[in-house]
Amino acid sequence: MMRKAPAIIVLGKGSLATARKIQQLYPDALIHGLEGRVEDVDSLYQSFGSTLRQLYQQDTPIIALCAAGIVIRTLASELLEKGAEPPVLAVAEDGSAVVPLLGGLGGVNVMAREIAAGLGVAPAITTSGELRFGTCLLNPPSGYALADLELGKRFVSDLLAGESVRINGTAPWLEQAQLPQSEQAQLAIHVGCDAREASANELVIYPRCVMVAVSQVLPQLAQVIRDGLRSAGIAEPALACLVAADELMADPALREAADDLGVTLRFAPGAADASALAASVLPQLLPAQPLVDGLALVVSNQPIDPHGVGRARGRLAVIGLGPGAADLMVPAVKAELARANDVLGYETYVRMAGPFRPDQVLHCTDNREEMQRARHAFELAAQGRSVVVVSSGDPGVFAMAAAVLEALHESSDPCWHAVDLEILPGVSASLATAAQAGAPLGHDFCVLSLSDNLKPWSIIETRLDLACQADLALAFYNPISRSRPWQLGRALEIVRQHRIGTTPVVLGRDIGRPGQTLRVVQLQALKPEDVDMRTMVLVGSSTTVTFDRPGLQPWVYTPRWYGHKP
Ligand code: SAH
Repeated sequence: MMRKAPAIIVLGKGSLATARKIQQLYPDALIHGLEGRVEDVDSLYQSFGSTLRQLYQQDTPIIALCAAGIVIRTLASELLEKGAEPPVLAVAEDGSAVVPLLGGLGGVNVMAREIAAGLGVAPAITTSGELRFGTCLLNPPSGYALADLELGKRFVSDLLAGESVRINGTAPWLEQAQLPQSEQAQLAIHVGCDAREASANELVIYPRCVMVAVSQVLPQLAQVIRDGLRSAGIAEPALACLVAADELMADPALREAADDLGVTLRFAPGAADASALAASVLPQLLPAQPLVDGLALVVSNQPIDPHGVGRARGRLAVIGLGPGAADLMVPAVKAELARANDVLGYETYVRMAGPFRPDQVLHCTDNREEMQRARHAFELAAQGRSVVVVSSGDPGVFAMAAAVLEALHESSDPCWHAVDLEILPGVSASLATAAQAGAPLGHDFCVLSLSDNLKPWSIIETRLDLACQADLALAFYNPISRSRPWQLGRALEIVRQHRIGTTPVVLGRDIGRPGQTLRVVQLQALKPEDVDMRTMVLVGSSTTVTFDRPGLQPWVYTPRWYGHKP
């Protein structure tokens, strides 16, 4: 299991020096600072409580440079919920104390030791087993899996009560632990990949040293693999990865089987025969045993690191950032940004999507090079990388998703078609603006881009005229720009032929971004000079109304009903 990069949380300038030292230990970690109190951090947050809880829910390890009590009180509401329990540590501002609080099975004590060593202090470890043996038997390092947690807990408490232990099999990390070993011991730790019921007084740990090669996707693949492992006498948790022929890359049944088995899926150039495929990725190992037609099994004498086997299926995600504010970005998009190797997009949006880690490659391009950017994204993803193309708002609304699909449609390269392509939605500017104004799009509405860069102006006039005839509320994207100065004026002329002068119009500028403004005006008073390319224009239908809201622009809404109020 690979641990996510931790988040380092600081409340004030006083703890920045300590935070930086910790960041040197975890170069992927970002420092999050309280807005207004610190600058020059990787990310600013406004609310300590909601930031901490969100990180916790997302299973992100947390290193908070503040009092343990603050962290405990903040996370208290999360603790009753079953779910993620990432490592959580409190570290004194000046680096003099490192206190692991939560995430005992997620490796919090390992982190406490690492951080304390980096700061030159002793960690405040309170877990008896850890203290005594210097390792948590219940949380083996990646490459090993514990057979049974409950049996394990009993085993550790017996050890703590003073029993000694024998180790059968090899696991270097266990040899390094300060276990009270004795050849005559009653208690035994068994390390091996064979399927085995733990006998009394035995702790079974499986090294993840088994790989299954797949050259043919059989029906019920996960079950066939399980049966194959069982007949070979191998325990399922010892399975480290599946490797499949490149031609099978886009097969959803294969992905499903890997997810079902909880293992990493890798690919290698296609040998038609599974044993040959296995040999091609792990040539130094014992010969592969055929399981059934299309499947072969390899058992190594040490844990297999799946990331060293073949390569991953490339992934391309086209994401929507939402209007700008971080809390209007959907969690799936945040997770996608965290896993990205490469990020492509218009520079402003790429910057909005940050902060990024030093290992993430940013490819900033001009806004107009859409097709070129889409093709570049496929080239990177086809190499097995995880690639993100960013759009503001929603990627399917006058943005990159359609360009990416068009590039794929035009391509006959099988590697491009094998990429794991996903479009992740965002809050579009019309919806973000509408929400701030009330519900101007509360009934049927029509979304139009007023840009005639990619379509003839006559089409825009026709559609606008028909949408007005249909009495739809209107949302104008790209309403005006320096190179398109007259189009908005002409569009408003058409609208005024159908709508009365008092029709409410909402102007949202830089919504969800610093310096956002929201104005509600009447159609008769609207001038193109009131609008620029960073503005969203929402024009009401015949039923759209407004009423006062104290101290702010009036509420605007379009009722749910039409014709007669029910
Ligand atoms: N994919 C984007 C739209 C891209 S078109 C989305 O779904 O929101 C660009 C136009 O969107 C701009 O000219 C402007 O009209 C509008 N827009 C984008 N972000 C905006 C914001 N934060 N506030 C107001 N309008 C915005």
